[in-house]
Amino acid sequence: MGLKRDKCIEIGINCPPKMDGGIKAQYDNNQRNSEDAEEKVEKWQYKGAVRFKAIDEDGDTTETIITGVDKELADIEYYIYQNGNIEYKINNKEKREKAQYYYYDSSNNIHDLGVIKLKKISQSRITKPKQLPKRSFYNNPIGGEYIYLVDVRDINSSYNNGDIKYKLSLNTTRYFINDITTAAFLGAMLNCGYEDFVFNGASDETGYSAGPSNSHWNGMHLDFRYLRKDKSGKNLHLNLSSETGDPCGWKGLDEVRQNKFNDELYLFGWTSMLSYYYNNKKLLNHTINYANHNHHLHVQIFKPKLKNITK
Ligand SMILES: [Zn+2]
Repeated sequence: MGLKRDKCIEIGINCPPKMDGGIKAQYDNNQRNSEDAEEKVEKWQYKGAVRFKAIDEDGDTTETIITGVDKELADIEYYIYQNGNIEYKINNKEKREKAQYYYYDSSNNIHDLGVIKLKKISQSRITKPKQLPKRSFYNNPIGGEYIYLVDVRDINSSYNNGDIKYKLSLNTTRYFINDITTAAFLGAMLNCGYEDFVFNGASDETGYSAGPSNSHWNGMHLDFRYLRKDKSGKNLHLNLSSETGDPCGWKGLDEVRQNKFNDELYLFGWTSMLSYYYNNKKLLNHTINYANHNHHLHVQIFKPKLKNITK
């Protein structure tokens, strides 16, 4: 009954082959030798894992997910829910080097967003000049003495499975967020389903707030370009008014989509946001007016809704 894991291997999946720096797992139809699987197996591809859906003669559906770069269990798993909840399951108390991310859509289908490697840093860094300010919102919300950084270049730049999708571009050298803000960020993007997100950065590889901003510690606070009506991902400056151009002004702002994104970021835990007045002192949802935020949204004071699960 159904398609068993063994069969996946039997029909030629030594899973998952890491190709092109891990962007896609590959599956070769010609390797199928199964008499019954041809029409009944759906597959989709993404970094680090392959998922199959098989329907047997009785119409029963069986899903098989093969995950992990080395078929190992990730050290920690994150389950992201549309209501903003994030569950985590610690599989390995000794080390935390790989995190697995899943997203549940409104039909309770699970989407495997892949395995991402983590970089462990001390949560409290007291050495100057990169001395971490003593603020509780820079601590790991799960607890413990460490922060586990994620290089945003290791997050899939896009995901697309039916209505569940996102596409992300990078416009930064401050590449590092952390394992929990990664879950929240993925949840906010997938709840929106937009394909013109532009990430403007967070921390450096040591968790330090590099560059002009001084609050981007431990990958907690994130910056984004504003979303445009033309979905081009080009610059937008809220203090300008033109509808087109690079940058365009507030008339080029997609207010509906931007406010939806703000709502989702808020839902996933960023309780404070810095933006800029536009169109006669209007403000985007959850934001306050703040100098130098005419060209990007800054989200901060991260308080996610986390739950530890054991199975
Ligand atoms: Zn910022």
